Amino acid sequence: MSVDQPARAEVVIDLGAIRHNLGLLAARAARSGAQTMAVVKADGYGHGAARVAAAAVDAGASWLGACSSAEALDLRRAGITARLFSWLDTPDVDFAPAIAEDVDLSASSAGELARIADAARRAGRRARVHLKIDTGLSRNGCPPYAWPELVHRAAAEPGVEVVAVWSHLACADEPGHPSIDEQARRFADAHAVARAAGLDPLRHLANSAATLTRPDLHFDLVRPGIAMYGLNPVPQREDLRPAMTLRSSVVLTKRIDAGESVSYGHTWTAERDTTLALVPVGYADGVPRTLSGRMSVWLGGKRRPVAGRVCMDQLAVDCGDDEPAVGSEVVLFGPGTRGEPTAREWADTLGTIDYEIVTGMYRPRVRRRYVGEGER
Ligand SMILES: *Cc1c(COP(=O)(O)O)cnc(C)c1O
Repeated sequence: MSVDQPARAEVVIDLGAIRHNLGLLAARAARSGAQTMAVVKADGYGHGAARVAAAAVDAGASWLGACSSAEALDLRRAGITARLFSWLDTPDVDFAPAIAEDVDLSASSAGELARIADAARRAGRRARVHLKIDTGLSRNGCPPYAWPELVHRAAAEPGVEVVAVWSHLACADEPGHPSIDEQARRFADAHAVARAAGLDPLRHLANSAATLTRPDLHFDLVRPGIAMYGLNPVPQREDLRPAMTLRSSVVLTKRIDAGESVSYGHTWTAERDTTLALVPVGYADGVPRTLSGRMSVWLGGKRRPVAGRVCMDQLAVDCGDDEPAVGSEVVLFGPGTRGEPTAREWADTLGTIDYEIVTGMYRPRVRRRYVGEGER
């Protein structure tokens, strides 16, 4: 793509909001004596991992969490020197580069631990390992029946240093859900097994939701992701600021007569003479086609409905008798403070979660722009 042309659409990331949110989360953690790991997997939930990581460290994160060791290595290459942890790689991944770059790794099984130890020997240094216990999410993590063996192998393995015992919650976004306490109980049991084996590992369990609602589960380190991006995973109100805005602008306006239909399939017909504003953003830019007929945009100081289907490259907005100027700003979603739609509203309409909306906004055609750099 031609880089010196103006963007058709852009995702604006407010780093001041990221810093504000992370600061709030880190302050909650600090009250329990816990440190904060800012989770920047999946390119920082679509916000750009390296820039978010730098802002998070600036605002008080002492750790960063990535999904794969490749993601962690990308952060090292971007100059990030904070403590880094990654937890989900495929069995064919060589851990040696991550160990050489001082990335903490997770082991969920004796086989994974052996591969890390082998890579540590090749890298010529000890690997720092966090042992993951599956406390009930039934995803990755070691099942309780295999845990004592994993712990004993790790304790006896000279190539690894056991840094932590950790796990992940299934239902923390539903405060009071009985699984949370059950997972906490199993986590305590797993930690006791490690202690009995002579280890003194850190403990970390809390995602954003548990960071906000369960200070008793903060332990040594919390791992917030979504709340740092300003999206609130829990029912209670929190002072979080959504960091992402998707915006574009009007490229053409036209009058159409009552009875004329708009876009593919003619699913929308003007009930009266009206003005349409054309916006050069579509499903190739992250606007789900299934929002057709169910979305509005912020244009000229108010919300206006999108008329007809969202296309690959464009959509049309019904402006009634208003005549927005070509070049007028169109906000597809943002923090909601001006009245514009939010990622949460899109998610609710689509029957999904806002995580999926923002994470899906990494699109080659949509320019990412950072603001709020110097703000506190
Ligand atoms: C994604 C993830 C997190 C962060 O979860 P949020 O709900 O975004 O706060 C924490 N820990 C693990 C293991 C994760 O995969």
